[in-house]
Amino acid sequence: MTGVADETWWSERVRLRLPSPVVELDDDRLARHGVRLLLKRDDLIHPDLPGNKWRKLKYNLVAARERNLRTLVTFGGAYSNHIRAVAAAGAHFGFATVGVIRGEQHLPLNPSLAYAVERGMRLTYLDRAGYRDKDNPELLARLRSEFGEHYLLPEGGSNELAVRGCAELPAEITEPFDVICVPVGTGGTLAGVAAGLAPGRSALGFSVLRGGQFLDAEVERLQTRAGGSVTENWRIEYNFHFGGYATRRPELDTFVVDFADRHGLTLDPVYPAKMMYGIFALVAAGGFEPGTTIVAVLTG
Ligand SMILES: *Cc1c(COP(=O)(O)O)cnc(C)c1O
Repeated sequence: MTGVADETWWSERVRLRLPSPVVELDDDRLARHGVRLLLKRDDLIHPDLPGNKWRKLKYNLVAARERNLRTLVTFGGAYSNHIRAVAAAGAHFGFATVGVIRGEQHLPLNPSLAYAVERGMRLTYLDRAGYRDKDNPELLARLRSEFGEHYLLPEGGSNELAVRGCAELPAEITEPFDVICVPVGTGGTLAGVAAGLAPGRSALGFSVLRGGQFLDAEVERLQTRAGGSVTENWRIEYNFHFGGYATRRPELDTFVVDFADRHGLTLDPVYPAKMMYGIFALVAAGGFEPGTTIVAVLTG
């Protein structure tokens, strides 16, 4: 757990909007079914460290500092929000950063990787076969010899300290609620949020991956490592991936445009838009009892 000294350490370096605001969404498509929807605006926590990325990094940054490691090494795809967030965290907190990117280098760099490099991240690339085998000791030894002793963050930043950071989210919500919804990429956020829920409440994850069914086991693994046991209060919806990670479909784009018209809020199409589409579809199908209050976490 972190203490006052840690809080001082990061509050001197970044100004974070925590607890993040909770706002009610007024929408007749929900009211008709007797459902209330609250938005947990984690997207507003910090422009460089939005949403779940701050929660997932927080205790890892503390651990790296405690171990006197000055370099963070992590893995991600070329469009990964996690890579961006680690690069930004390095710049804010004074760590050198290295991103091991899946696939080949493409120049010019896409905006995500250009952003990371601007913040001082060094990039190295692994072909797809090598990337699938990224836990092998030879690779880890090579990274150590190339970049020195470092703090290793797994792909997407999901480890037990990330779970612990995300477990703090539910307690920030002072309004009563029944179900909390989060988008799911690697499952760390869902694992933590579910672990942090009070009794009688449940968490619903929306997978953004096609064929993401392995995520059930992954969330169980993360919860076991973080807390010793799996909580029985969550499940994952697999029907709203729209073709897979970062893929789009006209009906999703239409939903996003319509949502922006109604609510003045443009949903990130990779994660929150798929979750929100799923919530509205489940409500329309009568999937929630009248009187239910749902919290949707805007993770980015
Ligand atoms: C990374 C990310 C997620 C996925 O979180 P996991 O813990 O990997 O499941 C969800 N939403 C946004 C906006 C993200 O950047």
